[in-house]
Order: sequence, then structure tokens, then C-alpha cells
Amino acid sequence: MAKKWVYLFNEVDQAEAYAGGDWEKVRSLLGGKGAGLADMNRGQLPVPPGFTVTTEACNAYLAAGEQFPAGLWDQELAAMKEVERQTGKGFGDPSNPLLVSCRSGAKFSMPGMMDTVLNIGLNDATAQSMVALTGNERFVYDSYRRLVQMFGSVVMGVSKEDFEKVLEAYRHKRGVSNDAELPIDDLKTITAEFKTIVRAATGRDFPSDPYEQLKLATEAVFKSWNGKRAFDYRNAAKIAHDLGTAVNIVTMVFGNMGQDCGTGVLTTRNVSDGSQEIEGDFLINAQGEDVVSGTRQTLRIAEMKNLMPELYVELGNICRQLEKYYRETQDIEFTIERGKLWMLQTRNAKRTAQAAIRIAVDMVGEGLISKDEAVWRVQPEHVDFYLHPQFDAGSRKKANKIAVGLNVSPGAAVGQITFDADTAERWAKEDKKAVIMVRQETTPNDVHGMLAAKGILTSRGGRTSHAALVARQFGIPAVVGASALDVDLEKRQFTVDGAVYKEGDWFSLDGSTGEIYSGQISTVPPEVSDPYLLKLLGWADEIRRLGVWANADYPADAQRARSFGAEGIGLCRTEHMFFETERLPIVQRMILAKSSSERDESLAKLLPFQRADFDGLFRAMDGLPVTIRLIDPPMHEFLPSQEQLLVEVTELRLTKPGSTELTEKEKLLSAVQGMHEANPMLGLRGVRLGIHIPELTRMQVRAIFEAACDCAGDGIDVHPKVMIPLTSHINELKVQQTALEEEARQVMAEKGMTIDYQFGTMIEIPRAAVTAGAIAGMAQFFSFGTNDLTQMTYGISRDDAEKGFLIEYIEKKILPENPFASIDEDGVGQLMDMAVKAGRATRPDLEVGICGEHGGDPKSVDFCHRTNLNYVSCSPFRVPIARLAAAQAVLRQKLALSVEK
Ligand code: PEP
Ligand code: MG
Repeated sequence: MAKKWVYLFNEVDQAEAYAGGDWEKVRSLLGGKGAGLADMNRGQLPVPPGFTVTTEACNAYLAAGEQFPAGLWDQELAAMKEVERQTGKGFGDPSNPLLVSCRSGAKFSMPGMMDTVLNIGLNDATAQSMVALTGNERFVYDSYRRLVQMFGSVVMGVSKEDFEKVLEAYRHKRGVSNDAELPIDDLKTITAEFKTIVRAATGRDFPSDPYEQLKLATEAVFKSWNGKRAFDYRNAAKIAHDLGTAVNIVTMVFGNMGQDCGTGVLTTRNVSDGSQEIEGDFLINAQGEDVVSGTRQTLRIAEMKNLMPELYVELGNICRQLEKYYRETQDIEFTIERGKLWMLQTRNAKRTAQAAIRIAVDMVGEGLISKDEAVWRVQPEHVDFYLHPQFDAGSRKKANKIAVGLNVSPGAAVGQITFDADTAERWAKEDKKAVIMVRQETTPNDVHGMLAAKGILTSRGGRTSHAALVARQFGIPAVVGASALDVDLEKRQFTVDGAVYKEGDWFSLDGSTGEIYSGQISTVPPEVSDPYLLKLLGWADEIRRLGVWANADYPADAQRARSFGAEGIGLCRTEHMFFETERLPIVQRMILAKSSSERDESLAKLLPFQRADFDGLFRAMDGLPVTIRLIDPPMHEFLPSQEQLLVEVTELRLTKPGSTELTEKEKLLSAVQGMHEANPMLGLRGVRLGIHIPELTRMQVRAIFEAACDCAGDGIDVHPKVMIPLTSHINELKVQQTALEEEARQVMAEKGMTIDYQFGTMIEIPRAAVTAGAIAGMAQFFSFGTNDLTQMTYGISRDDAEKGFLIEYIEKKILPENPFASIDEDGVGQLMDMAVKAGRATRPDLEVGICGEHGGDPKSVDFCHRTNLNYVSCSPFRVPIARLAAAQAVLRQKLALSVEK
């Protein structure tokens, strides 16, 4: 049988059979819009008759060098005959003309990125008969000029502005602000002028044959898949380039035939904050593009309740029916033609992070989805949103609020304003400026600037305008429809109540409230208090098996980590404490000491500092484990740089020869030179340092146990875990751990207390991973230091690679992704797996965690789950994300198992 390229809307069962019953595959075949229309048709909702040309046809067309595959056109013609039968009209038949739209529709929505042509089937003859049939000349010529305009630009490649200029001139001549107010005769002349523009620009006539219109429009939609803006959008939205777009041919229904007509777009819930209300924009006597383009000030959908009460009820019922059926918030397009409601689209609605979380939680309450499904649906990026700064309340109070617009994409944005996408992108990328992009309204051509901006501000458009959709999808704070702003793109400024604001001025936007402030408002670190998020994370905690701990050096970090849900400290980097101003000179004296008594003196001074540090951590983490890593970096990091000292010594030799200052500096220089290492990351650091200067790590262990005993004495439940870094050979642990355990016992004996403690090591050198079985003979726990383990497994420097060739490798796809961001499962991951198994073979209850940066990366968290780690440890701000990711790892495994079965 010949390949089926075309499915009528009432042939969805056939599409489903072809896709093996898999709805996702139906969506791949028919695109989101086509699948939705066909599915609504199946559900007996009012969908205008039509058909879908498949994405497979698009791919075949593009692969064949823009040639229709065999059979496609015949199938389109046959489908058209069926649509004629269903509507009782004839395509190109002047006695009763059928008009159709040609709409793109990829699997994943790409707002405005590809093309649509409306009113196909109009020509001079059908236009005339439409006038006779409808008695509405204005409507017919408005439709006709739209066809020539859209067809001219989309299909024949004429610049949109050429048409827009003509309309603008007529609006100006008649003193009206909107095309709908132009007199009928003007619309006729405009249609003729548009045809002249097409001929002049392309050397071809606007085709009057409806079938030629249909064929060319189908091709134009196919081609738009490879258009630059669609390509860029797919890159930004991580949509595969080989999916292709479907083409939907839909009987035209008209929202612009008079006052009993209208059109609108809505979401079945509020997609900004997730609340349970229908939310959208609506216009009486208009076509769909008038609503989404933001060229006319739209009405809120709620106003339809008064204007068209019965239809509003019908629409509400359909919304509920669709939500129940899809178990998801829907994004709907509808048109009302002479009092009859028609559904033109339904698809899962894009939403902000806030809305995604609230909707998932509410849907569990409504019995639409399970808790597992809610946890599965929310993306780690949604949780990430809550972990970004918000405006400081005090600073906001003092700020100068100049206007309020629609709060369409939440979050705080501070930046300098600019008025075009190219400048926004250049300022952000090259000049590293924070940018707020201001437009009257945005179009798909602005997307690159919008993505580069910290915030988006428009003076026109509604909640479903292009600006709002794109901002929400990419989590960029946005305020739209701020009508108080008079934006002048040519002068590159806007005015509000006479005050002029110029390009480069600073602004602060609150996408959660719609408020616009001039100047910069300071921001504060976030706190996780949203009740919906807390509920969702609670469910994630019920599901996950992995523990989630935090990397925290100071009590305040620990406190924050705990408030975000951390169940322990997986890494306290003790050397950070050595850098504090009052301590550094003591540390330097300790390093440069010439005798052990001199060194002991400095260490004795450092001891109380360290004890206080650990005391604070234990108190903050009362009842939870605290992993304290002994000093790790090479000593010279605590000393002034060799280059700097050389400059200073040279200068002093010239300016103050023989001075004591010079002698001191010379001594320091020679000590620094003595410690110089060509490869310090492979040098005297980690456990090697502890072995080289045993008094130093003994002091740290003393501080840990003295603090632990003091805290325990105050009733705090302490669980210190002493972690030895950078082990490569079991013999290192034998020396170091034995000495340190001795110190620990000594402190406990002095204090007359016993503490629940462990000694363990980091696994961050491949040799340690390979010999983990032996190492577990000493170490009571492992923690993977995947920063070093990645560096040493790949043999690439973690400090330099991301500035240089590594990025080139990723761009050239030599490496699939950055191994410092996501665990390289095939290499580093294999070493981890081997170490977990060997370690537990020696010590079955060996606790294993990870404390490299990967611990907060959702993909790596999934790997840690599969590798049976006990916990991941990450920065406090990643803790909520890791909680969700750890639960999703369980759900992913369940899903894989059920698919296998
Ligand atoms: C690591 O190497 O992954 C680690 C956590 O230690 P650091 O980053 O301090 O070297
Ligand atoms: Mg390390």
C-alpha cells in the first residue's frame, strides 16, 4: 500500500494504529496541533473539518531537495474532496466557496516560529460570491487583503514591512488606529496594491488558483522548518532538528464577520501563578492573529462572561473536559463565527516554574494525577527558579515605581534598557551587561535578544502575547502590556507621563507583580517558602532513596542548607577557614616555621578558631552527620604569589636597599620559591600534606573532637565524620588515619566523653577507585570527589579546560557534554561503580556519597541513584533540586522496569 502522508481529522484511529498505539508517536507524526485537533474531533468537540499532512511528509520533502514525495499531492487533493463533502462547500467554487487555513504544527510548540496562511481559496471570483453570500463586503475584503499579505510574505518572500507601510499610510490618511476601521473601498484598493507589491517584488502574480495557493502554502510551511529563526529557537529550546513539521489544512471559521463573532486564546489555568482560573485574551470581531500579535488591546477572557454568556459557559465546559481528558493544563485557541464556537487548537500549556509546581500539586488534590506523577512532571529547572534572588523589600520601598503592566513571567530582573534584539544580544554576550529588552511588542525575530536579556518589557500585548509565551518558556522575568509606556523605537527611548527614559538607563522589573521601577533595586538571597513547592518536595522525599546532603563551610550555610532540606553536611572544606584575614598571618607563620616549636605555637593559635568553626556547624546540624574534610590544597596557596613577591623585592632593592623590610620579603620569597611546584594540583596536597606536616591535621582533628565534646556536653546530638582527602594508596591512610584516630581518642579521654564518629576518605584519584577494596579496609566511608576524579581520569585541568579546548570539544561534539557539569558515566562513572562494589565487598555497610559539583546536577544524581550511593552532597542552593532529582531517579527506574515488562 502506498505510504499514507495525509490524515483527515477523523482518521486519528488510523494514525494511532500506525504509531503502535503510542500517543507520543501520534504527536510526532501529526504534530502537536494536528494530533490535538484530531483528538478533539474524536471527543466530539466542535472542530472545523480538515486534515494533517504528516511530519514524515515534511522530512521526505526536505530530504528530496524540496520535492513532494510520491502520492502526497494526490492524497491532499483527495482529503480536500472529503473536506468539501463534510462542509458542503467547494474549494475554488464561486457558488459556495470553501476557504481553508494552512498552519504549521511541529511536535513541540514553537510559538510563531513557523508559518501560517489564512483564507486560502480566495480570488477575485470567490471573493465576489462571498460578498453575495455573506452580505459583508468589509469582512470579505479584509480577509482577501490578509490572504495576499500573508501569502505574499510567507510563501512568496515579500518583506512584511512593504505591506505594513501601505496599511500604515491608509490608517494615517483616515485617522484611524486599527485596520478594522478602514472603509471598504480602502480595503479593496489595499488588496489590489498588495497584489502589485507581490508582482513588483517577485516578478510573479499572486496565484488566483486555490489549488496552487494550497500547494505553495504547504511547501512554505515545510520550508519554514529550516528557517533561521526556527532553527535558533530549536537550539534554545533543545528541540531536535530532525522532527519536521506537520501541515494542517483547516476549514476557515471567521471571527471577523461582525459583533456576534470573536476569537481568543486561553489557558485552562493561570499559567503565571498556577491558580485555578481560565486565563487568556479575547477580541470581538477579529481573527486569531489580532489577538496573539498584540496589535490590538485585547479583552480579558473573563469579560466574555458578560459579552457572550452562553458561549462562555460552553467554553468553560470544554476546558474542563479537555483538562480531565489530558490531565494537563491546556492552551486553547477558539473562534466564534456567528454565535457558534469552534475549537482551533488544544495543547499542553507552557507555564512558569511557579505555575508548574502549583498546577501539579493542585491536580493531585483534584484526583487528576498521582503524587508520583506530580513529582515526575515538575522539572528541576522549575525548582531552580525559587533559588534565584528576589527584590529586597526595603530597597523596593524606596524605589521609583513608574508603571505597572501584566505580570506574565515571574522573577526579579535588573538591567539596562535597550530597544532591539541585536543590541540586547551584543550587550549581554560581548559587553557582559545586564539587559532589559523593551519593545512595543515582540515577534519571533526578537527571540535571540529576549533569550540574552535578564528581563523583557513590552508596552502592548496580553498574557498570551509572543513576549509572554517566550518569557515563560525560558523563565525570563517579563512584564507586558504596560500601556503607560510610550515606546519610541527610532529615538530609542520611552516616556511615561512625560518623563523620558533613554537606552542604557537602569530598570528593575518584577515579573511576579508586573511592577516597573526606574533604577536598580537590590536583591536578596531566596528562601524556599512557597507552600506548593514545600508540598511537592515533601512528596519527593517520600519517593527518593538517595540522601541529600550539602556542601557547607560555615554555620550560616549549614543553616540555609538545612532549611532547604539537607540531611547532613557532606563536605566542609576546612581550608576556607584559613583564608580569613585574622587567621591568614597565623597560617603563614605556621607554614614558614623553622622549628616544630614555632609551628606548634601557630597551630595552638589556630586551634580555637577551628574549634569555634566546627562548634557552629555541629550546633546548626544538631542530630545530623557533619563531614569535615581535612586540609586539602597545597601550602603555597596560603602564601603571597611568587610573581608578586618578585616584583616587590625588585622594587625594594632599588628603593630601600638594606632595609629590614627587604630582608623579610627576601626570606618570604625564598620560602615561596622553595615550595614552588610545577604541577601543584598533582603535588603536596590532600593526605600528602597531612603526612608531611602531621601536626596540622592533628590540630584539626583535635578541634573537631573538642568542639564535638563541648556540643555534646550542651545536649547537641553530634555525628562528626572526618574525611581524609586525595588518598591514592591504602598505606597513606594507614599512616594518617591511625595517627588521627589516636588524637581523637585522646581528646575524648581528656573530656571523658565518647562521640559517635567515623573516619573515611575521598575517592578522587583513579588509583583509589581501582584499589577501593583495600582502602575500605581502613576507611569507614567514601565520598567521591568527582571534580578531581574527573580531572584525573580525563587528565584535563579543572581550572583551565572550561576556558579553552573543552568548550571547543563540546561544540564540535567530540564530547557529548561537559564532564565537569555532568558525570561522564562511561569513564568516571565506571570507576565510581567499581569503587562502590569493591568497597562494599570489603565493608558491606560502607557509606558512599558524592561531594563534587556533580552532586547537584540532576543527571548525575540519577547516576548516583543507579550506582547505589547513599547520598549526594551539593551546594545549599541545589539541595531542593537534588531532592526532586533523586525522587525522579526512582520514578525513572520504575518506568524503565515497567517498559521492560
Ligand atoms: C572534588 O574534587 O570533587 C572535591 C569535592 O574536592 P575539591 O573540589 O575541594 O577539590
Ligand atoms: Mg578534590
